[in-house]
Amino acid sequence: MIVMKFGGTSVGDAARLHQVAAIIETQPAPRAAVVSAASGVTNLLLDAARASAVDGDALSAKLTTQIRVRHHDIAAAIASDHERAAAVAALDQLHAALDDALAAVSRAGELSQRNSDRILATGEKAMSVLLAATLRARGTAAVHIWADRVIATDDRHGNARPDRTRTRELAALEMKPHLDAGSTVVMTGFIGCAPDGATTTLGRGGSDYSATLLGAALDADEVQIWTDVPGVLSADPRQVPDARVVPGISYDEAQELAHFGAKVLHPRTIRPAVSLGIPVRILSTFLPGEPGTLVTREAPADSVKAVTALTNLLLLTIDVPELEDLASASAAVFGALHDDRIEVIAASQASSRRRMIYVVDATGHGGCTRVGQRMSAALDAAGVDAEVGCREDVALVAAVGEGVAAAPQTLSQLLAILGRAEIPVLFTNQQHSNVALTVAVAGKDAARAVLALHDAFVRPQPASSRGRRPRRSHMLAESLRVG
Ligand code: ADP
Ligand code: ASP
Ligand code: MG
Repeated sequence: MIVMKFGGTSVGDAARLHQVAAIIETQPAPRAAVVSAASGVTNLLLDAARASAVDGDALSAKLTTQIRVRHHDIAAAIASDHERAAAVAALDQLHAALDDALAAVSRAGELSQRNSDRILATGEKAMSVLLAATLRARGTAAVHIWADRVIATDDRHGNARPDRTRTRELAALEMKPHLDAGSTVVMTGFIGCAPDGATTTLGRGGSDYSATLLGAALDADEVQIWTDVPGVLSADPRQVPDARVVPGISYDEAQELAHFGAKVLHPRTIRPAVSLGIPVRILSTFLPGEPGTLVTREAPADSVKAVTALTNLLLLTIDVPELEDLASASAAVFGALHDDRIEVIAASQASSRRRMIYVVDATGHGGCTRVGQRMSAALDAAGVDAEVGCREDVALVAAVGEGVAAAPQTLSQLLAILGRAEIPVLFTNQQHSNVALTVAVAGKDAARAVLALHDAFVRPQPASSRGRRPRRSHMLAESLRVG
């Protein structure tokens, strides 16, 4: 059983959808595909929803027209009259439901997370209809299934947590009969179902997570993440143009990379694969013959395999004059961050200075003024005398590789590299993991820090070995020969 996930750029237009269909058809049954919305559509939906909430009905209508056109252009390329007509009818229903949801937001004058999820789900629902119809028109048996009947979650709209046990039951019920009949099941990524039946979403970029959740629910042999880059690269190619593919990484390395900003994987993607030991492969829709990156429990333990950066963070410092107050200060701060659902990316405590440092992702929670006040209020309420400091626009830069932090020289090398590049370090963290070394720097220095660390740690591939990389098609042929 293979689960294949195709991201937004992979399904961006009709030609790409046909490439995707061809890739799916090369995989043996039983197989399931998980699809994102066409690239840009989720943003259009969000903009339309926000416009509807603030008297922007005209803007909202303009945006929904763009969405309709994107979907109908793809439908127009479906090569069977019957399938095309059925897909267009299903799209019309989805677009009418979208208009109803936007009208409800306009009447309410505000956008609840619940309505937002209902609206955003339209992009993935439309794409699942389009891909299943495209496959059938090519002669491949396929059905679409919306994940608000399969991926059970809690009711945290916008960032829902899955219920893995219930998801397993639902996947068996909803999907197994189709898989057993030899159909390719095309499921929506990104969305789930709250206990009350409402549609939820798993957070932006969450379709990767949907794929591993489905893979775990169906005991898949492999989960494939098909995207617009030929694998996990040694850095974000938009920052480091000569970044290269990392052929093998461990679950731990993949989790650290995703946690510290490598957008190629949603941060929660790897967890469901770990417990069942399901291999996850990252592959390029545009270069389907390339071997990509294989993520497994164990991987070759090099030094630093990749460098990544997470930006737009806040760095909170809490100075506690009385040593005996440290534990209650820590409890108060963590409690407030937890209550506000602000994610702590890194934390440390230097008890000699009675200073605690938290690097947090407070996107959507305001900047330092709001978060700083909130922490001061929580400390006051706990009866702790403490001084709160806060710095905005901070980036965490991570050098990731098994054993990196265990090697004593790596941190000093890393600091020396940043020192030579004249990049001040605001915080370092070596001990929390032996897979990543992290440093906080000012946001404006993040790109330079990534470049400097990549240049120093990730050796450029010698030109002579480039042409000798095994292609995936050769590797497949090879593995077929050995049985
Ligand atoms: P999809 O739409 O397929 O989910 P995403 O845009 O979410 O694709 O993720 C792929 C993008 O992630 C790449 O185009 C690349 O710009 C970015 N990226 C950031 N860091 C890395 C990395 N270390 N390796 C590969 N891609 C990365
Ligand atoms: N379409 C969703 C988003 O843009 C989910 C995804 O692409 O993974 O965030
Ligand atoms: Mg993505």
